[in-house]
Amino acid sequence: MRAVVVTEPGADFEVVERDVPDPGPDEVRVAVDACGICHSDSYVKAGGFPGLEHPRVPGHEVAGHVDSVGENVTAWSEGDRVGAGWHGGHCFTCDPCRRGQFLQCENAEITGLTFDGGYAEYATVPAEALARIPDDLDAVDAAPLLCAGVTTFNALRNSGAQPGDLVAVQGIGGLGHLGLQYAHAAGFETVALSRSPDKRDLALELGADHFVDASAEDAADALQELGGARVVLGTAPSASAIESVVGGLGIDGELVVVGVPHEAAEIDVQQLVMSRSAVEGWASGHARDSQDTLEFSALRDVTPTVETYPLEEAEAAYDRMMENEARFRVVLEP
Ligand SMILES: [Zn+2]
Ligand SMILES: [Zn+2]
Repeated sequence: MRAVVVTEPGADFEVVERDVPDPGPDEVRVAVDACGICHSDSYVKAGGFPGLEHPRVPGHEVAGHVDSVGENVTAWSEGDRVGAGWHGGHCFTCDPCRRGQFLQCENAEITGLTFDGGYAEYATVPAEALARIPDDLDAVDAAPLLCAGVTTFNALRNSGAQPGDLVAVQGIGGLGHLGLQYAHAAGFETVALSRSPDKRDLALELGADHFVDASAEDAADALQELGGARVVLGTAPSASAIESVVGGLGIDGELVVVGVPHEAAEIDVQQLVMSRSAVEGWASGHARDSQDTLEFSALRDVTPTVETYPLEEAEAAYDRMMENEARFRVVLEP
């Protein structure tokens, strides 16, 4: 099979010929139909991530179909359409697993990081890490939903927001353009916050009821004028963006951060205390969360905007994504 590998930290992607891998007893072999490229794939290029060894095939937005199952696998059969996201399996025996907190597993696998991922024609994946893809969802659309989709969908549905509440999505990119659609479909009064005024029309098309141009007005003031946000979903990986919206939270408001900045953010605690509000983080989801995301997306016609490339163009496709030029997610079709 053809696969894209990172042979050592800092190396360019290399397309190689490899043997098709056999699934272990508790694994499934997936014939990859599409695999999204995500910012977190940069960990594989950079090296140093716990559990990462090179050479490694990246890719944790894997959509395909079951090609072969290991001898202990009962949940999946050949031909099933399945996907795998960042959460690549868990041990079932550590303390978080015993409490059902599989995402927090102390021995968690990460697809395309602790084992080879979806930048290839085939990938073997632990059976518990797979989500079923609904019939009416394209593999190319499903792929980004397995990381960017589940992250935003899961963050919103685990927040305290109720239908009708004011929910703002900060940043309209790979995560934010999905967050807006989910917020609208969930029945929230949806605000798009962006420093790019040229994204106004797109934001309204994706379901925003309001657009706040944060390059021209104070985002916190604008949110307070709308009544104060019950939730702000922070997708822009910037400390100053995070700091700029804390004052826009309403009573019991939550700033749920999913876009992680490289620098620390300064939070005005007095603002939190006065409004009884909180700044918190959210990461991804386990396989059933991914499947819920795919099912809801199919039900409500939530689709990512994608650019597609063949495996041979992985390097150029990755660069477009890292340089923020892609609209909005990049998907490889092996
Ligand atoms: Zn990702
Ligand atoms: Zn565990």
